[in-house]
Amino acid sequence: MSEAAPYSAQEERAVRDAAARGETPACPRCGVAMSPREVGGGSFGLGYARRREWLICPSCRRSVLFDRRRGTRN
Ligand SMILES: [Zn+2]
Repeated sequence: MSEAAPYSAQEERAVRDAAARGETPACPRCGVAMSPREVGGGSFGLGYARRREWLICPSCRRSVLFDRRRGTRN
């Protein structure tokens, strides 16, 4: 099998929007629930605490990494 192409920007946004609503996002390609995983900011050497989440589709293994922000969005 060839390597899976990443999500499109639109698909990534759908995943992020669902997560922002507090839902468990479903993979836009497979329709299965994605597995959330919290990633500590410290391990990336950023020097400050930042909450990140990593959502992984257990079926196609595509993932979306994003910063979870409170308040306004960019
Ligand atoms: Zn998938």
